[in-house]
Amino acid sequence: MNGKEDRVLKIKTIKDGIVIDHISHGRAPDVLQILGIDNQFKDSVTIAMNVPSKILGKKDIVKVENRDIDSNEINKIAIIAPNATINKIRNYRVVEKKKVTLPKSIVGILRCPNPSCITNKEREPVRSVFIVKQKDPLVLACKYCEREISGEDITLSITT
Ligand SMILES: [Zn+2]
Repeated sequence: MNGKEDRVLKIKTIKDGIVIDHISHGRAPDVLQILGIDNQFKDSVTIAMNVPSKILGKKDIVKVENRDIDSNEINKIAIIAPNATINKIRNYRVVEKKKVTLPKSIVGILRCPNPSCITNKEREPVRSVFIVKQKDPLVLACKYCEREISGEDITLSITT
């Protein structure tokens, strides 16, 4: 980590919580949605958008106090922010830092936009599976009906 990024991470120091860094710029609100953070959330949330970044040009950062993150949430974030890093903070220190990784297939996170897909059957629907067809920009294809989704449609298909 270089000195400049280090300063950015300290915009507001949190005692315990998570810092999600290197979010694709403009996607911080989507990350908050994935985490289920809305106006009912009681603890401190810091959002920085369009911060200069060596790797991404511009990036967003989200800090949430007194919140942990699970692997399902990390997989969702990987879909909309493939370069994001998750920092877990305990007692003001980063105790864990990891980059999100996009799995080869995305299971159960996205709703297929094809209404007649077997994953959308009212009775006994099959768990959705999307295959990564292309990484940048991201293109996903439903394993069952081969419907492709990309861009904003991916965000809209994330189940919360
Ligand atoms: Zn489908």
